Amino acid sequence: MDVETPPPCPKEPPKIHRLDQSVVNRIAAGEVIQRPVSAVKELVENSLDASATSISVVVKDGGLKFIQVSDDGHGIRYEDLPILCERHTTSKLSAFEDLETIKSMGFRGEALASMTYVGHVTVTTITEGQLHGYRVSYRDGAMENEPKACAAVKGTQIMIENLFFNMSARRKTLQNSADDYSKIVDLISRFAIHHINVGFSCRKHGAARPDVHTVATSSRIDAIRSVYGVVVARDLLSITAAENDPSRPVFEMNGFISNSNYSAKKITMVLFINDRLVECTSLKRAIEVVYTATLPKASKPFIYMSIVLPPEHVDVNIHPTKKEVSLLYQESIIENIQAAVELKLRNSDTVRTFHTQTTHPSTSAPLGARRDNQINSSDPVSKSQKVPVHKVVRTDTLDPMGRLHAYLPAKPPRQQGGNSCLTAVRCAVRRRRNPKESADLTSIQELLSEIDSNCHSGLLDIVKHCTFIGMADDLFALLQYNTHLYLVNVVNLSKELMYQQVLRRFAHFNAIQLSEPAPLPELIMMALKEDVDPECSENDDLKEKIAEMNTELLKQKAEMLDEYFSIHIDQKGNLSRLPVILDQYTPDMDHVPEFVLCLGNDVDWEEEKNCFRTISAALGNFYAMHSPLLPNPGENLQFYKKEKQLGTREDKRDGCKSLEDNSAMENEIDEELISEAATAWAQREWNIQHVLFPSMRLFLKPPNSMATNGTFVQVTSMEKLYKIFERC
Ligand code: ADP
Ligand code: MG
Repeated sequence: MDVETPPPCPKEPPKIHRLDQSVVNRIAAGEVIQRPVSAVKELVENSLDASATSISVVVKDGGLKFIQVSDDGHGIRYEDLPILCERHTTSKLSAFEDLETIKSMGFRGEALASMTYVGHVTVTTITEGQLHGYRVSYRDGAMENEPKACAAVKGTQIMIENLFFNMSARRKTLQNSADDYSKIVDLISRFAIHHINVGFSCRKHGAARPDVHTVATSSRIDAIRSVYGVVVARDLLSITAAENDPSRPVFEMNGFISNSNYSAKKITMVLFINDRLVECTSLKRAIEVVYTATLPKASKPFIYMSIVLPPEHVDVNIHPTKKEVSLLYQESIIENIQAAVELKLRNSDTVRTFHTQTTHPSTSAPLGARRDNQINSSDPVSKSQKVPVHKVVRTDTLDPMGRLHAYLPAKPPRQQGGNSCLTAVRCAVRRRRNPKESADLTSIQELLSEIDSNCHSGLLDIVKHCTFIGMADDLFALLQYNTHLYLVNVVNLSKELMYQQVLRRFAHFNAIQLSEPAPLPELIMMALKEDVDPECSENDDLKEKIAEMNTELLKQKAEMLDEYFSIHIDQKGNLSRLPVILDQYTPDMDHVPEFVLCLGNDVDWEEEKNCFRTISAALGNFYAMHSPLLPNPGENLQFYKKEKQLGTREDKRDGCKSLEDNSAMENEIDEELISEAATAWAQREWNIQHVLFPSMRLFLKPPNSMATNGTFVQVTSMEKLYKIFERC
């Protein structure tokens, strides 16, 4: 008898299952401990947090075989040993709010736990006044045995053996790279010149002499000498900078920078922000620019800098290994430091090259300076100065709507020559705006107190203490606040924040310079055309009339707009400068036409208070974090199929192609456009997470209306979610 074979079943979707907790932990651990040097960093930071005055590191096989960090800190209590290596156990943080003022380096309680998931950890520790210490080993977050009493010297010793023994791919890639030990030496060197009250040593297992050895000292230069050698130490200049004016971002910096005699193949930048060893590429680049301009022969400097800021201005929690921190007012601080470095180099006797260069003022565009403080017209350099390439506003002639782009390159462009850099440096050190009495205008004070009195206390608590989870869609971000989840409208939120910041910075703005002044009539025409059917040209005369009238009006108001809002309109009716409302943030220039139209149409020029309110609102709307004009490629791939654009954008290029050609292109994606769109969307999301949310926590006073107008929507609470999960 024939047995009928069943028809092949369609491919079933793979079953989703919950990962085993140990797998989850191992994946998370791999993020925290990326390589041996990250383990050493965590261990040394723990020792520093434990107030150690002596820390020694021993490493075998680049750290893969063996890492041991010993300190003379306060030790670990016997009763804490059972949970020491569980995930999220820490002695340094209890409430989320503590993060804002945290001084210790650790706070997540993840490092030791992570190490136990990817290596074998043994801890030996003794606390003050005990007769003996304890030794205990850990695997996968838990003790392997009861702690055993043992002889111990003051402090803690943590040993990791066979790192990544259970991650063969990582082990293999690391085994092939020989430089992990040098990374560890480099790391300890950096710690050693900052924490000069702590003695450090670092050596290879079995080696007679350490590669780093310092003793506690009170002189930084001595520490640098003993770590980096006399050749480096003799060519250093000490440097300081600070901003004490409370209306500006407050900070203090001190450090050492190399002079013209120092030459090296690459720059060494040792940076501590609030005692955390971090990297800051933009600061590094800004300093390199000054060196290239002033000391071309010593353009790869040695820099040690320690910056201290109010802890609430630093978001320490943005990077899995805490390598980077996010700073509020980063740009203004960088400018300030850049100016200090330039001044130092100019005033140092050893600088000769600089003076010969100043006799040939450059006409090329400055590439380094990002923000333009008040332009000092008596400064000859600022007169001839062009605008940084990345502030250029360009008109897209291929686009029928004449779309404006702000084309900010992902990375600031590289320097081409000494002279152009010099101009850049000069423009960064131009004098700051003097605070004006005008900020005391009562109407501004009234508008500010309206913000205060209209603030919703519940929402205020949410914005101050929420955690950003991610974007739920193009408009809404998902937040967690206590056990509640909220969707918040980022456009409304950013609009309000910008509005409030305009009022707070009133008459004290730094400026964004447009590369080429943009003619107001053209901008207004563009906005009017976008408003209605672009094809319809019937009313062009009328539109031109409106454009002309609005331009005249704005020209009349130019002085006030410039003085109070840093919106600069020249006598010819060109817009050339805009205010910096939030540091590190440039608005989407696609919205300039709309903004100019709005200034002309929607501002009440009659009554002072209303006038300031409406101008601030117009700026708020312009600077808000709107969705980019190009649709999100993640959701609208169709838009980027070339076929769709035949007859519009592409017709100029492809108009002569035959129909067959066209259909062949049907499914081809316009890669260039899609990558432009992807960049714009990624940039926006970055801005939302790293500019909007940190600033919002500090500054936003959410108005009552936001509780009911759909800006905040409570989605669910964790308790409910768990209940739902339990039922499944
Ligand atoms: P975190 O540093 O984020 O708190 P860790 O996993 O690095 O998390 O460490 C967990 C806890 O173990 C610390 O909070 C601290 O109390 C304790 N600890 C770790 N290393 C040391 C050490 N060398 N000396 C004293 N206590 C330590
Ligand atoms: Mg730690």
